Amino acid sequence: MQRTSPDPPQIPFSRRSSRPLGFYDLTLDQLTERMTAWGFPAFRARQVWGWAYRNLALGYDEMTNLPAALRENLAAELPLSTLATVRELTADNGETIKTLYRTGDGELVETVLMLYPGRATVCVSCQVGCAVGCAFCATGLGGLTRNLTSGEIVAQAVGAARRARDRGRALTNLVMMGMGEPLQNYAETMEFIATLNDPDGMNFGARRITISTSGIVPKIDALADEPWQVNLAVSLHAPGDELRSSLVPINRRYPVAELMAACQRYIDRTGRRVSFEYALMRGINDSDDTARALADLLRGMLCHVNIIPLNPVDVLPYERPDPAGIERFADTLRAAGIPATVRYSRGLDIDAACGQLRAKASELASETAAPA
Ligand code: SF4
Repeated sequence: MQRTSPDPPQIPFSRRSSRPLGFYDLTLDQLTERMTAWGFPAFRARQVWGWAYRNLALGYDEMTNLPAALRENLAAELPLSTLATVRELTADNGETIKTLYRTGDGELVETVLMLYPGRATVCVSCQVGCAVGCAFCATGLGGLTRNLTSGEIVAQAVGAARRARDRGRALTNLVMMGMGEPLQNYAETMEFIATLNDPDGMNFGARRITISTSGIVPKIDALADEPWQVNLAVSLHAPGDELRSSLVPINRRYPVAELMAACQRYIDRTGRRVSFEYALMRGINDSDDTARALADLLRGMLCHVNIIPLNPVDVLPYERPDPAGIERFADTLRAAGIPATVRYSRGLDIDAACGQLRAKASELASETAAPA
């Protein structure tokens, strides 16, 4: 489905120097400071905050109990969202909704909302592109363009909550598994979590948020010391250095032994289980020997393995194993006492693997967009 309402204002952006960009980039204290400087009482900031995060307002014009002058000020000075919806695609009988956004400086990012019985999960992006360059990933092909600001990540979450609400559902889970490496955009990721967690706003519990990393060891240690009880998912994909370095190049900097030690420190400090993501690729990392080596690596650790049969990317030579091979890999882990689940990614027919929609979207760059 393509929307046709007008573009939101174009926001000048000079990498990290021109923050804040929009409403979602502010804390409630910062908003209050700004609005009192305009001459409005502090309680008005709380009203706006409630409209934005509890009512999920799409624009200031919906905030009907605010003075018109305040709404005009806000619209002129502080765009609610700096993301514009370029395209929405649905799959899986309407239960997977993929949204392509354009940022204020013309970059494209994507978000996927997945509706399940009793659960609605959004997968957000945290960077335009990604510097990690995993061998099987469409996002990594073009390298990193820039970090998203916290507000640009918040806008994706709010947009997904709104889309879920439009379908009679509430957002229950959020995963940072879209485009980008969250721990290489650490400060904005932490601000994003703080905003979602704010009890005066969305009040979205950190335990419902999962941060996925390719294995940035010092930031895993930093995350363990944060107050947020977020879940950690580590994209492992191989149990040994040679294979892992060929799939996840950051492994040359933080090899498997260092990564495992950091994961164990994280478990010791937080008491929380770590999830290991394992993109299963035929003839690459799906042999019985590899499964046994993975079991040996993880034995005794408070962890869970998510086996994700690969979503193939047209321009990359990796393939998904057949169903029997997928089950055999999972069974080998389980037989060795390692909890393992096979998770098929949603929306194959709409290119729902990370970066795939954006990778094909350059022709959309001139399309009309609507507010996020
Ligand atoms: S899989 Fe994740 S970390 Fe690796 S290149 Fe893609 S977006 Fe980056």
